[in-house]
Amino acid sequence: MNEILALRRPGAANAPFSAPVLDDDESIRLQALDAYEILDSEREKSYDDIARLAAFICGTPVALISFFDRDRQWVKARFSSSTFAQTTPNLPRSQAFCDLTIAQPEPVIIVADILQDPRFAGAANIIAPAKLRFYAAVPLVAPTGAVLGSLSVLDRRSRTISPEQTSALQTLARQIMELLDMRRTVIGLSAANARLGQQSITDALTGIPNRRAYDQKLNEEVSRARRTGSPLSLLMVDIDMFKQYNDTFGHMAGDTALQSVARVLLTSLRPYDFLARYGGEEFAIILPATDLSDAILVAERVRALVSNSEFPHRKFTISIGVARLDLEAGLKAMVQTADNGLYRAKASGRNKVVVGNLEKILAAE
Ligand code: GH3
Ligand code: MG
Ligand code: MG
Repeated sequence: MNEILALRRPGAANAPFSAPVLDDDESIRLQALDAYEILDSEREKSYDDIARLAAFICGTPVALISFFDRDRQWVKARFSSSTFAQTTPNLPRSQAFCDLTIAQPEPVIIVADILQDPRFAGAANIIAPAKLRFYAAVPLVAPTGAVLGSLSVLDRRSRTISPEQTSALQTLARQIMELLDMRRTVIGLSAANARLGQQSITDALTGIPNRRAYDQKLNEEVSRARRTGSPLSLLMVDIDMFKQYNDTFGHMAGDTALQSVARVLLTSLRPYDFLARYGGEEFAIILPATDLSDAILVAERVRALVSNSEFPHRKFTISIGVARLDLEAGLKAMVQTADNGLYRAKASGRNKVVVGNLEKILAAE
């Protein structure tokens, strides 16, 4: 049993302690609380320091910073003198003071003697073993007016706090709200950052990785192949006679066709293959741990799938250049070799898979 806060709600007749019902206000309050992502967060020194200061200023053995979840009070920071046992950070709402604070979000709640307060009359048998007599709390209020939690101080003797101590508690509560606002700003910034990061590596038209993502992935895979000695292959894919399609059916139809081709390519690949839009109507497919013979098989499968698929207005074919990484020749030579294969596939009639000629690339250097 939580020694500090184990105060069960008295009977339902006592309005402030009525059971929490999830009405509209409560939903809005919980939404506001969620935005701070504070519940179950790690312990933080800045909150611990404020709890310690609150206890010091008010001369109480206990101070708590709590947040009120749907059905529990969760303690973010606590200061307690050695005579108080450390307790669990969770307390069911039905046994906590939260409802009093939420129902009456006054600038400060001071209960000089819990035993004498009619709102606590029904809980005497719970309060007595904990020997708690004094309770004061300042609500933590979001800019929307929602009560998120409280900064509270407790003592085992009946007493009060001075106006100066009250005012200091309110100042500390404002400091907690400042910390929370900073926390929310950081959460918003990191989410925006993640979105931007994702956008910067995604092709806006097709939704697949773009050229930048391809460059990054290819570098990573070449490094891995060097490290592990596993093979690596690359396919350069180009849609045949795409200009004609654009000229005949319009640029917008061309855009839709590009999206469809990207989708078909994607479905034909294995989970560890990497498809990117290289630019225009060209795609690149990185095939990790794939030797040349398997790369040719993958390329053939992709080519056949596209030529057998239905697209708006007319069928499409693709030409594919294939290359395998030669560790000595390196990344650039692999890309040039795949390009060479693609060029020869086009020259020999399109709708073909052709392995590029590495020797020719090396000889030209
Ligand atoms: P080939 O078989 O030799 O590859 O012929 P092709 O017509 O496909 O090649 P070409 O390079 O002459 O033309 C490519 C066309 O792709 C021209 C360009 O308008 C079109 N294209 C490139 N990017 C886009 C795009 O984002 N949207 C649309 N609609 N068309 C694009
Ligand atoms: Mg092209
Ligand atoms: Mg083309």
